Amino acid sequence: MKAILFREHGSLDALDYVENFPVPELAPDEALIKVRYAALNRLDQFVVRGWKGLDLLLPHIPGADFSGSIVALGEDVTNWVAGQPVTANPSLWCGHCTFCLAGQQSLCDTFAILGEHVRGSFAEFVKMPARNLMAVPDGFSMKQAAAAPTVAVTTWRMLVTRGQLKPGETVLLVGAGGGVNSFSIPLAKMLGATVWVVAGGAAKAQQATELGADWVIDREAEPNWSKAAYLHSGKRGVDVVVDNVGAATWEASVRSLKKGGRLLTVGGTTGYTGQTPINIMFGRQVSIIGSTMGSQLEFEDAMRLIFAGKLAVPIDRVYPLAEARQAEERMQEGVHFGKILLEVN
Ligand SMILES: [Zn+2]
Repeated sequence: MKAILFREHGSLDALDYVENFPVPELAPDEALIKVRYAALNRLDQFVVRGWKGLDLLLPHIPGADFSGSIVALGEDVTNWVAGQPVTANPSLWCGHCTFCLAGQQSLCDTFAILGEHVRGSFAEFVKMPARNLMAVPDGFSMKQAAAAPTVAVTTWRMLVTRGQLKPGETVLLVGAGGGVNSFSIPLAKMLGATVWVVAGGAAKAQQATELGADWVIDREAEPNWSKAAYLHSGKRGVDVVVDNVGAATWEASVRSLKKGGRLLTVGGTTGYTGQTPINIMFGRQVSIIGSTMGSQLEFEDAMRLIFAGKLAVPIDRVYPLAEARQAEERMQEGVHFGKILLEVN
């Protein structure tokens, strides 16, 4: 089958397009899907680079998100039929540890993500446990079905389950353009929050406004965005800050919080070690709340709203599968707004 793979860890140059990779073999509980579209995530780039303790079966195929059609089913799978258009929750969990039994699948003792620990979706065919699948409704965009899963489940768990974002609260999103941040705008608006965005440049500021942001700070015009947010809040600070930028913005994010505020994070693209002013933590009694991926229930809750057309994940560009490296380079440059897709079949 056609696939994007790497034989050893390295830069994005390690990504190679091949046409003769073996089709995955199914376990009894799995489905084989012919991929229509796959979507990029920052995770792909971390996996290509590798990290201490990541022990992959090489060559490895990246890719967490996809849409496609079922072509074969393992012998234990009875509730799906071949030909059904599907998408899937990219989280992989054991189903029997104490966290899984409590419905906290993203805390599973052996938690993994498609394309991170197992071969992923940048290929003609991908296999997935059937319990992860969700049917794509007739006529629904297969691009949107591929763009949504990781962003939808991650953002839903972060804002709804972990962040407890409430109507009337103000949320400040640090950064615009990435999948989670761009989807956080419509989701936070749907939850009844006022949405402020820190955007890098006039183009992204404009796109955030078009998505429904109530107030946008262009950090190129206003580098001290934390102070600007503080003043704009009437010197009270904001209820919730979302920071997935990490080291570069962490301290400013903590300083933007009001008394009793919450700082939410699902990642740190500029580094994982940020300065936390401890006096603000106790003085303003703020909370730092981490979140990652989500449960099957959270995935399905978010996807139902997307399938119903009440929410949409912004899409940046679509590249052919063979140009995955160029697509990853666009994401690495940070010039994109929304999800970057690969057209596979
Ligand atoms: Zn488990």
